[in-house]
Amino acid sequence: MGNSRWIKFRVEPGSRVRLDDMRPDDTGNEKKQAAVQHTGKLQKRMDEMQFHLYAEHKRSVLICLQAPDAGGKDGVIRHVIGSMNPQGCRVVSFKQPSAEELDHDFLWRIEHQTPTRGEIVIFNRSQYEDVLVVRVHNLVPKHVWSKRYREINDFERRLSDNGTHILKFFLHISKEEQLRRFKRRLNDRTRQWKVSEADYQERQYWADYQQAYEDALSKCSTDYAPWFVIPSDHKWFRNLVITEIIVHTLERLGIQTPAPQVSLAEMRRKYHQLKNGK
Ligand code: ATP
Ligand code: MG
Repeated sequence: MGNSRWIKFRVEPGSRVRLDDMRPDDTGNEKKQAAVQHTGKLQKRMDEMQFHLYAEHKRSVLICLQAPDAGGKDGVIRHVIGSMNPQGCRVVSFKQPSAEELDHDFLWRIEHQTPTRGEIVIFNRSQYEDVLVVRVHNLVPKHVWSKRYREINDFERRLSDNGTHILKFFLHISKEEQLRRFKRRLNDRTRQWKVSEADYQERQYWADYQQAYEDALSKCSTDYAPWFVIPSDHKWFRNLVITEIIVHTLERLGIQTPAPQVSLAEMRRKYHQLKNGK
């Protein structure tokens, strides 16, 4: 596939992200119908590649999803990740930490969920909550959360050095789009279960969150664990871009399916014996 067209959404390591300069409604001049069809083809390819990764049983992939409320994490998991074989694929959601989790350092619960060889794991929220919600609401003092960017980078480097390929997607939606989604949830009976009082409260902190996201994206986008800012006002475009980046990453791994563990010539001979009723 060559270079992914969407590499432009990658945050260059060391660069300073300004979300206001990045359009959440970007559609890259794509047409919706063609994009949806192309995404379908890419999903089939992604499914094949995942099967190979699973068979190879050497490397693994970790995908971190972060977004404002109603940003579309659930949609990405359902539409993009849902097209892969559940065997070898796992979704982990990080909610408010339990008492036991709070009694350990913030990476303890994350460590427990990292992918095993051959596995693709999707973090629905991640280690980054500890420099997002925790920072915005002063859940720990600044001198504690401000060290965490480096701690996260060190942690991600260790995973990467040990064969885990990390992709981090920030779903970038506009404040107006969030309100439209709140309205849709209120009016659509099948979505009303998603209406959450917390989401309305957190909206008051929109600017603080944007600043916290900008810092996390700027300080923690590295060659070994890049952040991507995905324009997400249009779900079909978001799905296209994320699928293509995942396929591109898997293709670059040069995955080798393992050699057979038996003599195929011998097994063919046995097969013919069985077939001939011997
Ligand atoms: P989502 O909103 O992701 O779709 P949900 O609605 O099922 O998930 P919530 O309980 O609304 O579940 O979301 C989890 C909440 O836990 C979020 O408000 C999130 O910020 C919070 N959270 C996650 N990690 C931490 C953390 N380390 N410290 C404090 N709060 C956290
Ligand atoms: Mg929620």
